[in-house]
Amino acid sequence: MRHIAIIGSGPSGYYAAEAAGKKWGDDARIDVFDKLPVPYGLIRTGVAPDHQSIKAVARRYEKTALTENVRFVGNVTVGSDVTVPELQDLYDAVVFATGAPHDRQLGVEGEDLGNIFGSAAFVGWYNGHPDFAALDPDFSGKHAVAIGMGNVALDVARILSKTEGEMAGSDIVEHALSALRGSKLETVTILGRRGPHQIMMTPKELGELMHLERASPMVDPEDLPPVDDDLILEPGLRKSVTLLRDFAAIPASIHGETPIGIEFDFFANPVSFEGKDGKVSAVEVEKTVIEKGRALGTGETYRVPADLVITCIGYRSSSIEGVPFDERQGKFANDDGRILPGLYCVGWAKRGPTGTIGTNRPDGYGVIDLVAEDIGQGNRKRGREGFDELAAARGLDIVTFRDWQKIEEAEAAAAREGAPREKFVDIADMIAARG
Ligand code: NAP
Repeated sequence: MRHIAIIGSGPSGYYAAEAAGKKWGDDARIDVFDKLPVPYGLIRTGVAPDHQSIKAVARRYEKTALTENVRFVGNVTVGSDVTVPELQDLYDAVVFATGAPHDRQLGVEGEDLGNIFGSAAFVGWYNGHPDFAALDPDFSGKHAVAIGMGNVALDVARILSKTEGEMAGSDIVEHALSALRGSKLETVTILGRRGPHQIMMTPKELGELMHLERASPMVDPEDLPPVDDDLILEPGLRKSVTLLRDFAAIPASIHGETPIGIEFDFFANPVSFEGKDGKVSAVEVEKTVIEKGRALGTGETYRVPADLVITCIGYRSSSIEGVPFDERQGKFANDDGRILPGLYCVGWAKRGPTGTIGTNRPDGYGVIDLVAEDIGQGNRKRGREGFDELAAARGLDIVTFRDWQKIEEAEAAAAREGAPREKFVDIADMIAARG
């Protein structure tokens, strides 16, 4: 028998659990831990609430969660409720699938001013993550700025721009919907330190900006390189750049009809934030030129008005005491998923915050191959039986998958008309909902 502990119940955790189940069938017991009482990690709290078709992948994880040899162990924080050495004593392999929950910092002056948020916090807020329920962003100003040119900046710009009607089938939480209802935003600037050929945005997500009811995307044609230069781009990026060209061709009359402009500001490296009464009022940026793909400052600066700023510049993993961590890259120090024999990482905790949800599938299968190489038939560990004893002795209040299904039913029952669920944003409420 092999006993596997997977820490984190997001995509990389459940793909690893699926892979272990397929490889060993009834000869393995897999415990999937989460510090929240609810599963699915970024599927629940990261994927945009208006992207329900992406969130539907959770049904696949549910199938894994309901197999005999896999169980969900919610409401348990590894590192405080139970230590990593304790888990190593009990399980043949401990796999960190803990993602990258912390915002990277820009490290510029004024970053601690009010109404500046990292995207982990801001996205967590509108997606009902308990850690960010109290964020309280202020939408009374006219200008929002999203820093970064990846898909997260697009998610943020779209959520800031959509009407309540457009959010109808989404699971955006009520506190966010009601705050956004009062929004006075007129511009959302997406700020990038490099140019159109260096964006990280994918075509499907970029294309959505063309179909917003009250907002239209704006690109300055002067920022675009000659059209023939697009030929060297890989096909996905070429499609995205073609969309930027479409945005640049939108006539001014259309912009006049939509109250919100989503403005792309390229070659603009944020160097500081200015504030008024403790709140951000502008971003100072330095114009850049691109050399060999890198943004070089020109010394010329200008101000972009900003009453609200969301930095969408990537994430860092959480380190855990005693586990080797690569501080520079913000992820576990690992060799393709192996931290040490018996200790592994997968998904963003392994490779940093890149790729799509699907990228985690080969990652999950790959890490289980490593585990198989290292543990053979298993080392007669006590696995879940030993963990249950430890949890009982410590009085841990474990939330099971059956409990989660009750929480899920209660969230579905509380949904507004047309929405799939109204999430609990308070851990005590989640736990109370299991009955
Ligand atoms: P990302 O794609 O890596 O984009 C990060 C952006 O931040 C880049 O434009 C980067 O510019 C910029 N940046 C980084 N450091 C900066 C700094 N110090 N100053 C200024 N700009 C800086 O990251 P992401 O948007 O957070 O997305 C994370 C992953 O999740 C990606 O793989 C993304 O595709 C995925 N995702 C997918 C979806 C979807 O498929 N619908 C939705 C959301 C997220 P440089 O390139 O110049 O470094």
